[in-house]
Amino acid sequence: GKLLIGLTGGIGSGKSTVAEAFRELGAGYVDADQVARQVVAPGSVCLQRIVEHFGPQILNSDASLNRPLLRQLIFSDAAEKLWLEQLLHPAIREQLFQQLKQLTTPYALLVAPLLLENQLDQFTDRVLVVDISEQTQLSRTMTRDQNSAEQVKAIMASQLSRSARLARADDLLDNNGSLAQLIEQIQHLHEKYLELSQEIRHKEQYDC
Ligand code: ATP
Repeated sequence: GKLLIGLTGGIGSGKSTVAEAFRELGAGYVDADQVARQVVAPGSVCLQRIVEHFGPQILNSDASLNRPLLRQLIFSDAAEKLWLEQLLHPAIREQLFQQLKQLTTPYALLVAPLLLENQLDQFTDRVLVVDISEQTQLSRTMTRDQNSAEQVKAIMASQLSRSARLARADDLLDNNGSLAQLIEQIQHLHEKYLELSQEIRHKEQYDC
């Protein structure tokens, strides 16, 4: 198969920015958050199951999923949370692999804020972590989302800690500096990933 890089980092660390920069260099990516929304889009099997389970009040008036209400319903109910995860996780994985298969780039990135928390790294060759200090993470996310410090801190607390994430990184992008400094690191990594993907292709061609 093709080289697959798991790209992760906490909320507001810069994953989307990084993924777009890799795409401009010629790498492809799939985004687990985007796929998570696609599998519950109106008309989907998963949304149908959710309505059967929670009742039609889980829908907005335009027939889309009322995400805040669903989040509220599973927040304090471990059994309901488990039920939902057992429905969504296999569907998300299947859709992720479908989209990855369709990429024709020399290597691909799987972008997921919860890559490590949800064990998606079992499917990737390497883990790439976008790292920023908690202070920068807080201020960039608050600026982007117009959320309170408390809201952002609560999300940060629900994710893996910075040190735990760093401990599982094969490759690292330091995003504490400017965008130019970030792009420079990405160009470097892109070269490295192209070489690695070459090696894989070579092995497959001659060894097997
Ligand atoms: P989420 O997990 O919430 O989806 P993310 O990890 O994808 O977030 P981005 O949306 O890429 O993070 O970045 C968060 C915010 O920080 C964005 O507004 C982005 O434009 C900004 N940003 C990213 N990198 C830098 C940088 N080096 N300098 C200044 N701003 C940056």
